[in-house]
Amino acid sequence: METFTVETARREARNITPEVKEAVKKLAKGRSGVAFVFTFHTTTALTVNEAESGLMEDLIDAYFSAVPELNYRHNRIDNNAEAHILASAIGNSVALPVEGGELKLGTWQSVLLLEFDGPRTRKIGVKFIPEI
Ligand code: ZN
Repeated sequence: METFTVETARREARNITPEVKEAVKKLAKGRSGVAFVFTFHTTTALTVNEAESGLMEDLIDAYFSAVPELNYRHNRIDNNAEAHILASAIGNSVALPVEGGELKLGTWQSVLLLEFDGPRTRKIGVKFIPEI
């Protein structure tokens, strides 16, 4: 596994495609297979979408507006229940195709780290599973 860290803002979608590509290049060594990208945290998520700055802010706004305003028990101790709920709903990993050692994404696709409770140092892991 290759890992890297990202210093995040309070809430943001961050394009981590360059870091993922670099990790895949090291792990795959020209082979084809699947890259499994994982975030080691309970208030971040991963998704694949367009890394357009307006859209990335829209994603964060829309995600938070989608969480109902309830009397969250977790907020008594940590005040970040909404961040946990979004991380859980969106998911903490993505699996991506790798062809000939290179990440194979669509023209407008990027790997986005979604930070819901920063600023923090976040650790991301990349595993490569080769074709057999
Ligand atoms: Zn919490």
